[in-house]
Amino acid sequence: MGIDLHRLALHAIDLAADELSLDAWLRAVLHQPERAVAVQVPYVDDHGEMQVVTGYRVAHSTARGPAKGGTRFHPDVTAEEVAGLATLMSVKTAAMDLPLGGGKGGVTIDPKRLSTTELESLTRSYTRAIASGIGPYLDVPAPDVNTGEQHMDWMADEYARVTGVAAPAVVTGKSLAAGGSLGRDTATAAGCRAVVLASAAKMGLPTDARVVIQGFGNAGAHLASMLAAEGMRVVAVSDSRGGVHDPEGLDIEAVIATKADAGSVVEHPGDVVTQTELLGLDCDILVPAALEGAIDADIAGSVRARLVAEAANGPCTFEADDVLTDRGIAVLPDVLASAGGVTVSCFEWEQNLAGERWTAADVAERLERHMRRSLHDVWQVAERRALPLRTAAMVLGVDRIATALEDRAGVRPTELAS
Ligand code: GLU
Repeated sequence: MGIDLHRLALHAIDLAADELSLDAWLRAVLHQPERAVAVQVPYVDDHGEMQVVTGYRVAHSTARGPAKGGTRFHPDVTAEEVAGLATLMSVKTAAMDLPLGGGKGGVTIDPKRLSTTELESLTRSYTRAIASGIGPYLDVPAPDVNTGEQHMDWMADEYARVTGVAAPAVVTGKSLAAGGSLGRDTATAAGCRAVVLASAAKMGLPTDARVVIQGFGNAGAHLASMLAAEGMRVVAVSDSRGGVHDPEGLDIEAVIATKADAGSVVEHPGDVVTQTELLGLDCDILVPAALEGAIDADIAGSVRARLVAEAANGPCTFEADDVLTDRGIAVLPDVLASAGGVTVSCFEWEQNLAGERWTAADVAERLERHMRRSLHDVWQVAERRALPLRTAAMVLGVDRIATALEDRAGVRPTELAS
């Protein structure tokens, strides 16, 4: 899985680099992270025994600002996966025109098997191991798969203890009391909602469009409620145990309650479907909001949506992407559709650095404006260059990074070519 994600990221960079006729040195810079560390993460388990696992932190680019990106706790985390995700973060922050670069971190562990005490020991140990390479003006971690506010609070606190510098801006996605931003918890979903609604309107989809969402974590569950509140019919959702389908539309608040009580959406009344069946259901909008690689070429051949919105990072393999494009299915790429989280992370970082607290309405309004502007920018590139939206978003992001690198180097492409 991990290696594919890195290949996917480099392939996407290459498509953009070809389109922009980038010089070899810029391609080489984009192909390789600025800094990557693999660290030992010892932690104490509940029996008092020491356990040791591996962690990673990759700062792919700081050309446009401090590296920025989440921290993933998952048994499948590898160095390649983290490098690929960090690469995509650089393009994501650039396509969103945030004053940040790209990074990512992770620990190879199944956190669902750990108690809270063990998780705290693990998170603090990981933070100590990467502390010398992170900082408010260097590399700023955030939540990702299986991490949230609590982990970020532990990371900020451990960083302060190790360095003696109480700098909340060292991580984002913190609890409000620890310097978090209002709206960060629902930001990925809110960002995706904004670009889905604008795209649905542009494509002339019905206002009660049928939506299928794969993944019912932070992004998927909030997005399901938000789209249902807009009058769309969420006809199927899934989590790691499987999916539930009701062609008339599910009562999302009831599904959220079922998941909280019984542990999975499959316990909710409705037809139980497998992940593959879910991805092939008849609908208008399909939202992969789980892990990367969920849609391969075979599955792409059976997708029956008009719009695919990538709320997860890298959910479509590049073969799948080609199949979807050939079949005339529009894909809102991850660098745009999943960028709400990092955008509000940027707002949190700005608030921390300025010692400010913005209101929930202010955050929501800025996010909506930012998402719509970036969608517009991507559409413009797509229309002018006759490109699919993913390549257009990559071109936009890569061009901005390349421009920053050229300006820093004090060179212009023409001078380099001579
Ligand atoms: N993990 C999220 C992402 O992949 C958020 C990163 C951040 O907030 O820095 O975009």
